[in-house]
Amino acid sequence: MGIFEYAPAPESRALANLKEQYKPFVNGEFVDGSGEPLKTVNPATEEILAEVGTASASDVDTAVKAARKAYTSVWSKMPGSERAKYLFRIARLIQERSRELAVLETLDNGKPIKESRDSDVPTAAAHFFYHAGWADKLGYAGYGPDPKPLGVAGQVIPWNFPLLMLAWKIAPALATGNTVVLKPAETTPLTALVFAEICQQAELPPGVVNILPGAGDIGASIVEHPDIDKIAFTGSTEVGKLIQRTVAGTRKKLTLELGGKAANVVFDDAPLDQAVEGIVNGIFFNQGHVCCAGSRLLVQESVAEEVLEKLRYRVSTLRLGDPLDKNTDLGAINSAEQLAKIRGLVESGDAEGAQRWTSPCPVPDRGFFFAPTVFSEVHQSMRIAREEIFGPVLSVLTFRTPEEAVAKANNTPYGLSAGIWTEKGSRILWMANQLRAGVVWANTFNRFDPAAPFGGYQESGFGREGGRTGLEAYLNV
Ligand code: NAP
Ligand code: MG
Repeated sequence: MGIFEYAPAPESRALANLKEQYKPFVNGEFVDGSGEPLKTVNPATEEILAEVGTASASDVDTAVKAARKAYTSVWSKMPGSERAKYLFRIARLIQERSRELAVLETLDNGKPIKESRDSDVPTAAAHFFYHAGWADKLGYAGYGPDPKPLGVAGQVIPWNFPLLMLAWKIAPALATGNTVVLKPAETTPLTALVFAEICQQAELPPGVVNILPGAGDIGASIVEHPDIDKIAFTGSTEVGKLIQRTVAGTRKKLTLELGGKAANVVFDDAPLDQAVEGIVNGIFFNQGHVCCAGSRLLVQESVAEEVLEKLRYRVSTLRLGDPLDKNTDLGAINSAEQLAKIRGLVESGDAEGAQRWTSPCPVPDRGFFFAPTVFSEVHQSMRIAREEIFGPVLSVLTFRTPEEAVAKANNTPYGLSAGIWTEKGSRILWMANQLRAGVVWANTFNRFDPAAPFGGYQESGFGREGGRTGLEAYLNV
């Protein structure tokens, strides 16, 4: 259905410098972890990319000891202006190795190269640049003249933005003088281990950053370790609740960035063609594996048919396929498990009576792919309106009045983000005040900046990452 035919424009896979084996990074060195090695897979082809050594609970202990030693003897004592130099160096090295990181991220995660190249990697570098700027100015951040770090931070991240989530976690922790033990997700450990090489290149003192690949049990070992002062977690609400229970009653500080079911609200006075672009970006960016994805479209009844028609046409022009192709809009779903979860929820939408429309785009035979899908005639009681699908599936509901839009938008246990599309500034401000969501975008969607705090209400978690507010999570204030 594409308007144009494109010749394939594949990025070179060789740029990834893929190695056969990767290892955990502890105390400044790559070590043989004592866990069972895992094999990481390219979700677009199902081929094995590399074998990755994993940590065991005893490696967690070794890493925490290394992080503690680095904290007390070097990192917490170093003047902020000196810490800043390391962060600037890391940021520059991410830029220098950006093509390698982008291709590697795309191979391991399945996301389109245009996204890893133009969004994930540059935003990761931006987080280090931004926080490097804070390291020597913490006394002016509004937390007292000389705010102190917390100590050793244990950090657990998901697979949807592997390098970017690492940057969101590590950059503020280091800028504020903490040291880190981080676990990447089981299915996407590779860019975190290249980041470990970058730490070596930057001559970061040993033990300041430790990276432990492994499954959920290693995340749990980090969370339970008695000598950790702060836990930062991004992932599912289910695991977030488990972590909160484990940490309750201990001295550990906790921040949780969890799931979402964001409403993207389109009023009849909105510029509809722009709104359609925002709706597409809101739900199909990164195959919809975005915690703040605009997965519930609320459209004013008077323009609902028109918006749906434009939307279906636009979605039918999206190109699904080889993530390394520079023309690809939607890549692969990260794992067979996630694909099964998406399929299950889509079947529930059919069974509960929503109208399914699927893009007629060709779907590759190999690999984990799911064609972009739009459900209309969705009711609030349906699972596809309530549960996070975390895939390229949009649920469309309608409303008549702004009050009804607010009531429906807030009718969720989550509260991470929301979008508003209207010509009226007064309506944007009124809506933004009513919406119970951490981030509210107006006439745009999925915009990220290291200076803007990000975080949730309700079951989307608590604490903020980014901006001045994000520093608080790593300071003893
Ligand atoms: P997940 O299952 O919660 O996994 C997240 C991380 O936690 C992974 O590294 C995972 O290891 C680890 N883990 C699993 N069980 C654990 C346990 N008992 N204790 C400690 N760590 C444990 O989430 P996911 O399915 O990978 O990620 C998707 C979810 O993350 C979605 O719900 C999405 O909304 C949310 N998310 C939120 C944000 C945000 O900023 N709010 C950003 C991105 C994603 P394994 O890799 O081995 O499973
Ligand atoms: Mg993988």
